[in-house]
Amino acid sequence: MKRTVSIPVDLPSTRFLPLMNQCAKIFNAHIDWALANSSYNKNKAHKELYHLLRVQFPSVPSALLQTVRDNALEAVKATKFKSIPRKKPTSGLRYDQRTITLRGRQLTLSCIGKRISLILDVPDYFKEVFETWEFCGASVTYAKKQAQFWVRLIFETEDPPQIQGKIQGIDRGLYHQAVTSDRQFFSSSKIRALQRRYLFNRRKLQQKGTRSSKRRLKAMSGREKRFMSDTNHCLSKKLANQPLVAVFVLEDLSSIRTQRRGKKMNKWLGSWAFYQQEQFLSYKAEALGKRVVHQNPRYTSQKCNICKHIKRTNRHKSKFQCQNCGHRTHADLNAAKNVRDDYILSSTQLRTEEQVSVNAPYVSAESLG
Ligand SMILES: [Zn+2]
Repeated sequence: MKRTVSIPVDLPSTRFLPLMNQCAKIFNAHIDWALANSSYNKNKAHKELYHLLRVQFPSVPSALLQTVRDNALEAVKATKFKSIPRKKPTSGLRYDQRTITLRGRQLTLSCIGKRISLILDVPDYFKEVFETWEFCGASVTYAKKQAQFWVRLIFETEDPPQIQGKIQGIDRGLYHQAVTSDRQFFSSSKIRALQRRYLFNRRKLQQKGTRSSKRRLKAMSGREKRFMSDTNHCLSKKLANQPLVAVFVLEDLSSIRTQRRGKKMNKWLGSWAFYQQEQFLSYKAEALGKRVVHQNPRYTSQKCNICKHIKRTNRHKSKFQCQNCGHRTHADLNAAKNVRDDYILSSTQLRTEEQVSVNAPYVSAESLG
């Protein structure tokens, strides 16, 4: 399994922005060559382009030029000339073993002029990956708006053996970070209190608009992010480490977003913190040989888990009371159970279909023999 770790870095923009710009031109020159010659052969491209490009872009290190050539031709090969990949002046730059080295937290990068060496600020939850996984490549990207460089490091390790165990549904809402189908409630009251305080302070500082208030705003947003990351880390660890559970069923986000769930909820669903929660759980589960799967959230909050009766009025805020059978429970718990049951139902249906298609050719082969 692979994992990408993104870390913001301070790189000298006077050297990296021209480098990105020139590498984009080198990339595009290879694309033009590939189209003109209907070929993605690296050796041929090298013979015809390498010296010309070296003369045209003398400050781009030769190893980096070769990496860009490989990237460009591999991109053409992947699409078989169907779409034409192009790079913009600030497009990300891919590095490989030729152009990057990582020793502990020290990263060394090819660049215009001398190689650049920097010490990465690695968050605690990625330490294990850094120490025990194999480093296999990286890219440098530039976020124009924030004028911030990022490195994305790719690590790889062997897949752990798959674990067998219980299937657990998880409902994630505004008032609970998570509610599991076996009645565990993880409240988010602390998070919401803190977010309210940050919002209040942020508004006050924004009104001021002085230089010192801007500095304090930046520091505050860093603190808020760290707090959210720590909370997400903590929750996902608790969930992933449950000894009997092997499969976690979450509501499929892309379909939740199309539903109307109120302004506040939609904002939370679109936030990076919400996305990170899911990422962390997937990481930790995967490393333990467990799985995170997704289920379409249709009617999960309105459907009675006991009699399957669907009605909007079954739910009133956090209370669930079935209009058909009278079943009463916490609305999020009911939803978590529905997510689990819907997944089990759809995956058993899928399995029977698979069996049919697997069995069919076997039967015909036998009858032929
Ligand atoms: Zn019911």
